[in-house]
Amino acid sequence: MENNEMKRYSFATLCVHGSGGADPATGAISVPIYQSSTFKFKSARHGAQLFAGEKEGYVYTRLGNPTQSALEKEMAFLEGGEAALAFASGMAAISAVVFAYCRAGDNLVSTNTLYGGTHNLFMETLPRFNIEAREVDTTNLENIINAIDDKTRLLYIETPANPTLTITDLRACAKIARDYKIPLVVDNTFPTPYFQRPLELGADVVLHSATKYIGGHGDTVAGVVVGKKDFIDELRANFLRDLGAVISPLNAWLLVRGLKTLAIRMERHQQNAMKVAKFLQFHPKIKRVWYPGLTTHPQHELAKKQMAGFGGMISFEIKGGRRAGEQLMNAVKLITLAVSLGDVDSLIEHPASMTHSTYSEEELAKCGITESLVRLSVGIEDARDLIQDLSQALRKVKV
Ligand SMILES: *Cc1c(COP(=O)(O)O)cnc(C)c1O
Repeated sequence: MENNEMKRYSFATLCVHGSGGADPATGAISVPIYQSSTFKFKSARHGAQLFAGEKEGYVYTRLGNPTQSALEKEMAFLEGGEAALAFASGMAAISAVVFAYCRAGDNLVSTNTLYGGTHNLFMETLPRFNIEAREVDTTNLENIINAIDDKTRLLYIETPANPTLTITDLRACAKIARDYKIPLVVDNTFPTPYFQRPLELGADVVLHSATKYIGGHGDTVAGVVVGKKDFIDELRANFLRDLGAVISPLNAWLLVRGLKTLAIRMERHQQNAMKVAKFLQFHPKIKRVWYPGLTTHPQHELAKKQMAGFGGMISFEIKGGRRAGEQLMNAVKLITLAVSLGDVDSLIEHPASMTHSTYSEEELAKCGITESLVRLSVGIEDARDLIQDLSQALRKVKV
């Protein structure tokens, strides 16, 4: 099907058909896994033309591969962007984007509540290249404006943020970015394009840890960047080619397969999360629940304005602090004690000692990541079984 024909379809249909339909060579309805490192040229001249960019085609899998292209085409459709580029991991995608925009002496401004790996990149790795990350509380837009100067090359926002589900106003950030002529980059891993489409809200670049909901099955590590075609072409030509964090054809295929069910998975993740959040909210051993879908979430109204739904991630604080949290995590039977998120299985973890152990104690306190905070990625099991499991585990917790 032609691209503009596809664009008329709704999200769920694009999830199923957006990678392009039957393989023209064989009629295979599942995109083939082109497990090939290199591609034969028709002639010496043809090879030279491909290298010169005068002809379109595949050369070498680090520069592009047909299975990878199917994934990229579909992700561009789903995010409403011109083009996309897949990477070996979410971190590879994030670092390529940062290096594409920043040189030594430059800085970026970002949310202070971030995925732990992103925080480590910003605070430990970027300074080695003389690039400064200014992490600020982006719920107050003044903080962003105050941090921007003439060396600021991008505004980087994660919303809802990992693990506190803090929401940042994307339309307002897009306006600030336009005013200061810097690109707005959004990590859209938590909501996925099913619940939040940052490009439509004015962002320039959207990126994902596709390891999470995009793949959805806990079997693939990958990343994706979506943006304008010029930017994506430059990312591919320079940063993917040089840094080399290319996705494998098999992993690209697993993501295309995962995307087919993205719409129904996200719907179910959200329904379950809402039920679990409500159960936890009224449980006597729970101090506080963070879920943007609850009216008690400080930015519930903002979440409603920029998101089509609230997703499947919940954080909560148990009375009795860290020890009580550990008791709970050791007592769950159905829910798995593991990091990562967005899988069909429910996963539970302790941010302060696990995913966010890259934060100093002071930084944790600033972002509200307390010792008693537990993060729950609500899967697509039957919500009654999840609530039952949490209920029996909470009975074992001594507060
Ligand atoms: C997991 C995650 C990342 C990093 O992605 P990897 O695929 O693990 O490299 C980045 N951002 C968010 C929000 C994440 O949850």
